Amino acid sequence: MLPPQQVQSGARRVAGGEWVRVHGLYHDSLIEGSGRRSCVLLSGCDRDCTGCWVPHLHAVESGTIVPVDLLADALLDPAHQRDGVSVLGGEPLAQPEGLAALVRTLRDRACLHTLVYTGYTYETLRPMVEHVPAIGAVLDEIDVLIDGPYVEALAEAPAHGPAPATSGYQPVGEPTGRPGSAGGHSWSSS
Ligand code: SF4
Repeated sequence: MLPPQQVQSGARRVAGGEWVRVHGLYHDSLIEGSGRRSCVLLSGCDRDCTGCWVPHLHAVESGTIVPVDLLADALLDPAHQRDGVSVLGGEPLAQPEGLAALVRTLRDRACLHTLVYTGYTYETLRPMVEHVPAIGAVLDEIDVLIDGPYVEALAEAPAHGPAPATSGYQPVGEPTGRPGSAGGHSWSSS
């Protein structure tokens, strides 16, 4: 899958759709949420947590631009079983409009459960909604938010992603039991 060739300056739309910058995607994770997960790493983060083990994801312009509908296809690849989709980074909320489009698309395609990791706390994010409505759209759409900065002292052993040592867990909605999943394949960033 190739990234689109044409990006409208300053917009979150490409080739007639919404997009996000992606570093990679993988399936069958048993450590980034409940059950078996398909996971995507989004680009960009300015949180600067001490001991962050994914500094290569920090650059805002890094990764590959991917249309949201194609990313949803890849995350919901029927060749892989899953209990849900987890979105990691980087800081997924550094791309609020694209992330909102992604979680909305996943839900529209009957994704069973969506989970987002963030270096922000839930209490920090809620007031931000007034100025960045897409953050509110994300919080309203997903099932679980794993929130708070990476805390190096809580890390037991390196794995990948910031997940094991973040400080909070926020069920922002009960799993809905939405049936089924569909479509796609996986790729890594260029
Ligand atoms: S741990 Fe996560 S939130 Fe913290 S700096 Fe690294 S990528 Fe950003």
